[in-house]
Amino acid sequence: MIDGFTEIDIDYSQAACGKVDNPDMFFPDGKADHWDLVASAKELCGACPVVLACFMHGVKHEKIGIWGGRTPAELRAYRRVYNIVVEPLDIESPVAPRN
Ligand code: SF4
Repeated sequence: MIDGFTEIDIDYSQAACGKVDNPDMFFPDGKADHWDLVASAKELCGACPVVLACFMHGVKHEKIGIWGGRTPAELRAYRRVYNIVVEPLDIESPVAPRN
């Protein structure tokens, strides 16, 4: 339990994003296809068996990227409501599309 927030160990071998051709969809950059990429990422995350654990990881540790089907703004909103402070990790995330 960290700040009233429980993290779950993630088995990223099950991650739906592990074999995607376009991992950039998890880091849309505001260009013309931004919302198409967000929609694609959210759809993939919606079918991911580790979505809850990924979301919780994203809330606690990630300021950029889509995690658990949530955009950075959605993750920020969750942190505000539950008064969660981001604790960036020193190690590179094990999630496949993060580069
Ligand atoms: S970003 Fe997270 S929830 Fe989305 S597919 Fe990858 S592991 Fe699953």
